[in-house]
Amino acid sequence: MEERARSCLLRSRATLEQDIKASYLMDHMISDGVLTGVEEERVLSKPTRREQAAALLEVLLWKDNRAYISFYNALIRESYGDLASLLHNDLPQLSPEGEKSYSNGISPTVQAILSEGGVPQRPVVFVNRPALLNKVREKLYKLQNAVGWVTVFGMAGSGKSVLAAESVKDHTLIKECFPDGIHWLSVGQCERADLLVRLQSLCFRLEQSQVSEAPLRPPSSLEEAKERLRFLMLRRFPRALLILDDVWDSYTLRAFDIQCRVLLTTRNRSLTDSVSGRYLVPVESGLDEEKALEILALYVNGKLHNLPEQARSIVKECKGSPLVVSLIGALLREFPERWGYYLRQLQKKQFQRIRKSSSYDYEALDQAMDASLQVLKKEHRELYKDLSVLEKDVKVPAKVLSVLWGKELEDVEDVLQEFVNKSLLFRDCNQRPYLYYLHDLQLDFLTEQNRSQLQAYSKGLPTSVDVECLYWYRFLPHHMARAGLSKELYSLMFSLDWVKNKAQIMGSAHLINDYVEYGAILDQENSEVRLQFQEFLSLNGHQLEQRPFPDVVQLALSQPHSSEVYKQALLQAKERANRG
Ligand code: ADP
Repeated sequence: MEERARSCLLRSRATLEQDIKASYLMDHMISDGVLTGVEEERVLSKPTRREQAAALLEVLLWKDNRAYISFYNALIRESYGDLASLLHNDLPQLSPEGEKSYSNGISPTVQAILSEGGVPQRPVVFVNRPALLNKVREKLYKLQNAVGWVTVFGMAGSGKSVLAAESVKDHTLIKECFPDGIHWLSVGQCERADLLVRLQSLCFRLEQSQVSEAPLRPPSSLEEAKERLRFLMLRRFPRALLILDDVWDSYTLRAFDIQCRVLLTTRNRSLTDSVSGRYLVPVESGLDEEKALEILALYVNGKLHNLPEQARSIVKECKGSPLVVSLIGALLREFPERWGYYLRQLQKKQFQRIRKSSSYDYEALDQAMDASLQVLKKEHRELYKDLSVLEKDVKVPAKVLSVLWGKELEDVEDVLQEFVNKSLLFRDCNQRPYLYYLHDLQLDFLTEQNRSQLQAYSKGLPTSVDVECLYWYRFLPHHMARAGLSKELYSLMFSLDWVKNKAQIMGSAHLINDYVEYGAILDQENSEVRLQFQEFLSLNGHQLEQRPFPDVVQLALSQPHSSEVYKQALLQAKERANRG
């Protein structure tokens, strides 16, 4: 049901509950086919008239526009004219003409379906890419009568996610191919545990969007989550589309191989090689010149032909990358006279280049990013650099950053707002509280710039057990590995204190996983010591799960005397003895 209609029902709820007789209205709604016999029974099982009315309204709130209209008509037929007039102004339009007449081309019905499925909104400045859009839609139509995969692939920042979100903003497509809804999931690079969390949240969202008797407990393993999702898609959302944004590996992909309709974005074109029923849409890395110029013009509120001559050179310099053009556009909005300056920034190939194994050209982005940073106040620039500790593709609430920065939540939100406005940070408005995240190219850039900051974090770990602190315990080794801080990684992970703290907060499984995950790096320093720590954890894992938490030094003292774990424990035991 679209937002206006739902809001009207909620506002009128108390009055409706007071007056209506649900059993009369339900007869009409059943004959209109918007209410089932089971739902009717559930309403009638309530003991009083008022409770029945409340139950009917509750059921109605989960339904679509047709149900609202049917309810409205039933009120009229049962001579509740006054009550019907409360609902009249917000009656949804069902005709295709009504659906088309909205300025941005997105009708409230489509908007409601997309918000419910967590599909992101358009960026503030948006240009259409009709040829590409049609290609994606054409492929999506192939899923009308059969399950399968549509893969949109291309380099980072080329506009894949924006395109995927745009492709489903079409009433006819939804009606004909995906009448059971569109469900968006941001996947990103994720480990087993993260993947489980994402699957859990997807299952939760799907379960929430139906009236269910008793809430189910979240699935506790990947296999269980996959089965739950398979069941939900098959039984409750058979013709829905699942959009998986930014999938990296086939391992993740397999978790969603559940015989349903999927649209996925990825940088890896061969990701879906092994699945059947697949359709590929390549996204070129840059926009054509006119489109890129249009973005710049929209940012500065100007007309294409009024753009200065440097505009074309900027587009040429960054090869029309939607991400870079948007970053520069956002800067120009604030400093409209700086065309020459930003062009020079782009042309000066003086910034340290972010080298990756792939062949992506990051150079232009580096420069655009640095230019974005330079316009921030010095104090904010430092805060922004701290964001390099965020995990790739993980979205965090402002509260996490308030812990990191040691600032009041409201101050943090103000700073984040500024970053969002400058396209330096992204905000997911589909969640409450809002979640913030960096584009992964921005994160790469910051990581490169910011090694020293990470080194400092390893020294001053938080010690309280705030939920936010979990983040640092969980991701610090990962950040160090990614930033190439091998020395810091050894000293962190070859430390009994770290083992003690992390095991106490997160349990032993995660910790063991770190030693496996970063084994190759640790082995360059000392493979023996790595094995000693891993063995200690494997042997004592179950003890470390016990509460009260055991004395780790005591446990470690039972290790072989040649083990580094034993040596550190002995030192600590002696210190304890000296302290008395
Ligand atoms: P990808 O998924 O390929 O990494 P995104 O879709 O996230 O890339 O796009 C990166 C950024 O580029 C967006 O945040 C937006 O600022 C800009 N962008 C992408 N597509 C468009 C578009 N059609 N119009 C305007 N800006 C766009």
